[in-house]
Amino acid sequence: MSDSRHPAPDGTKPSAGAVYLVGTGPGDPDLLTLRAANLLRQADIALYDNLVSEAILALLPGTAERRYVGKRRNRHALAQDELNALMADLARAGRRVLRLKGGDPFIFGRGGEELEYLADAGVAFHIVPGVTAAVGVAAYAGIPLTHRRLAQSCTFVTGHLQDGSMDLDWPALARPHQTVAVYMGLLGLPVLCANLIAHGRDPATPIAIIEKGTTPAQRTLIGTLATLPQMVADGNLHAPTLIIVGEVVSLAQKLASSR
Ligand code: SAH
Repeated sequence: MSDSRHPAPDGTKPSAGAVYLVGTGPGDPDLLTLRAANLLRQADIALYDNLVSEAILALLPGTAERRYVGKRRNRHALAQDELNALMADLARAGRRVLRLKGGDPFIFGRGGEELEYLADAGVAFHIVPGVTAAVGVAAYAGIPLTHRRLAQSCTFVTGHLQDGSMDLDWPALARPHQTVAVYMGLLGLPVLCANLIAHGRDPATPIAIIEKGTTPAQRTLIGTLATLPQMVADGNLHAPTLIIVGEVVSLAQKLASSR
């Protein structure tokens, strides 16, 4: 029986024979939770993918075993079912497995699927939430995701392209006075902007794309639904990038804090 409903409080020794699914935030190690930082410092074995920053991996003790399990071109990657089986096998062998995930494990992170597998397999697990990219990146870019005057709601969507299109509720997303945060949207940016305009969102609506948010390499481009796709085509941006659509983006320059 999993003891996940009674997670150990911060600072206690993590238990062996269990998987810790840990959100590591968008990149800046200062955004780790205390619980994540404690677990990292006491790690036995860490499984990580490409969204976990080097600065965060540097917190692992020298004795910790590290395994890259993500998907990156030209690097060996594990299929999801192989990874699930690996986590379960390591935990059954008595290892304390840290499964590190960028941002929050339950936001576009397949954390739910991994925990379903472990629950079915009878392996003990714990979940440690993290600062999701939209929240961390928006803060560092000076974009309040909601604002009494400008946006009464905020929606997180995936902009992943399937057969060149995005399966999103365009009429809902095109309404004004709301913020849309788009994960995995770099390649689909022209499709995103064209659909929002086609469904009635003002082409002058401000939109930001933020590359490597919260890291020293953070870069922000701001345009409108009409202009940003061309700016990005000229801009040589690389993943990870987060896109924020909405009137709140107009505050970015005023509210971007000095770091
Ligand atoms: N579980 C993660 C999201 C995984 S999906 C979370 O909660 O943040 C991967 C997407 O997250 C990337 O394609 C990008 O859109 C976004 N992302 C993650 N880290 C980011 C960063 N530092 N800067 C910008 N976008 C980021």
